[in-house]
Amino acid sequence: MEIKKGIAVSPGIAIAKSLIIDSEDYRIPRRLIKAPQRMTEIQRVRNAFKDAIGELTQLEAVQDQTEGGKIKDIFAVHLRYLHDRSLRKRITDLVHSELVTAEYAVSTTMRWIASHFTKVKDAYMSERATDIYDIERRLLRQLLGKKREDVEHLTEEVTIVARELSPTQTAGFNRKFVKGLATDAGGRTSHTAIVARSLAIPAVVALEDLTECVSGGDTVIIDGNRGLVIVNPDDETIRQYEEYSQEFIELEHKLDAIRQKPAVTRDGVRITLLGNIEFPDEAELVLQKGGEGIGLYRTEFLYLNRKSEPTEEDHYQAYAETISVFKHRPVIIRTVDLGADKYTQSKRFAPEPNPFLGLRSIRFCLQNLMMFKTQLHAILRASVLGEVKIMFPLITNIQESMQSKMILHDVMEDLDEESIAYNKNIQVGIMIETPSAALVASTLARDADFFSIGTNDLIQYTLAVDRGNELVSTLYSSADPAVLRLIRTVIQDAHKAQIDLSICGEMASEPEYIMLLLGMGVRTISLTPPMLPEIKQIIRSVTMEIATM
Ligand code: PEP
Ligand code: MG
Repeated sequence: MEIKKGIAVSPGIAIAKSLIIDSEDYRIPRRLIKAPQRMTEIQRVRNAFKDAIGELTQLEAVQDQTEGGKIKDIFAVHLRYLHDRSLRKRITDLVHSELVTAEYAVSTTMRWIASHFTKVKDAYMSERATDIYDIERRLLRQLLGKKREDVEHLTEEVTIVARELSPTQTAGFNRKFVKGLATDAGGRTSHTAIVARSLAIPAVVALEDLTECVSGGDTVIIDGNRGLVIVNPDDETIRQYEEYSQEFIELEHKLDAIRQKPAVTRDGVRITLLGNIEFPDEAELVLQKGGEGIGLYRTEFLYLNRKSEPTEEDHYQAYAETISVFKHRPVIIRTVDLGADKYTQSKRFAPEPNPFLGLRSIRFCLQNLMMFKTQLHAILRASVLGEVKIMFPLITNIQESMQSKMILHDVMEDLDEESIAYNKNIQVGIMIETPSAALVASTLARDADFFSIGTNDLIQYTLAVDRGNELVSTLYSSADPAVLRLIRTVIQDAHKAQIDLSICGEMASEPEYIMLLLGMGVRTISLTPPMLPEIKQIIRSVTMEIATM
């Protein structure tokens, strides 16, 4: 049994066999074979070694004639491992004694060897671990070939273990079978963590070297409350966790009971609680958990789980579905926030050197006007279905705000010409997510119907800490005085300009900051749906007098 500590990013407990996903999406479950199959599997191991040697020898020969040097040396090292009889024997012995498949025996053995290299804190040794992983992948490619399985076709419950996951991968997981997620990389406000929370899948990130300690098929407990991952737990630990998991579910049900009650402080101050969503079907969850509308609809996820760009009709249908759940309540549709860690990098010929400081969000839209206008056209059409509002993300200056609104007005004129109905008085707001926007909030307020503070990015840009990088996650703090000062400025400027203000970053889902935010004057909060009951419970148990102390 091994216990690893990371960052808890999505609450709940998951206990299931692990499924390792590497960058190439191989899944290596621990599958048992019957005794008579032993020889077939052992032969598959031998063939995989033979084919891998053939492949590498060819590659090495090409290197001879071209660049040679370093790459040739690496291939030579890999070939030495592949020719090593004791390595092959260790793998075939495992098939023989444990009755496991060739793939499982290769993966387990190679990861076991690699973990010994990584335990030695030495750069040369760490590189050897990388070599071992490379060889593992080469052998698995030979073994899996066309049989390579896809996480989309799961048939049993699993916990996913990966070096890192993209928001797209996470969003595509089948919630019925994927019970928990654990990654080496990531931070609390990375988009992958946000998606896990929205899907209510327990998750722990920033585990650094978890993938080196787990083999496919190992039993893994993911404790998304305490940020722990337990590999191969003993029976007593499993029993305790099953009990704890049951208690946690019961507590959640108890909290759900306050769903119909208003979010009002003990001294009578009414707070509006809205939900953040990525997909239309989450709107129902917001309603179930007692949310009063949608405060942030991250529409870029419409792009993330499909092969081609969504059409205007795709946009419209998604908005109509969301609005149908909250017909007379606000639905704030944020225009696409692509770029940075979402979508555009994989589509670019050459990735941007600093994607979080690059062509992301509203900047991307302003340079892709066809795409932007298609979305605005769809939102305006949907605006007659309910109380729709538009929100532009990552506005950093007044020009971007004015330009975005100009384009919106162009689209309104198009709709007028086409005689299509829309809400001519639709409210248009902006997200305050950069220090520059916070510092000129009083100017931006003149051109906006409302502000929503996106603390995830605001913290990242204020403190110069990548929100998804586990190496600097301890520096990422909502409570940093620089962040709090900026938030206070934005709240004060919104109040002075008499425009609505909400907060929709993950800080608003964290129980420890709720009183602080109320005390600073926040009255509308938009948060991840599973946390709505807990946050409401806190609001109902405090007084504004205490919150402002
Ligand atoms: C934020 O930055 O706080 C925010 C809500 O937007 P996102 O997390 O989608 O970047
Ligand atoms: Mg943001």
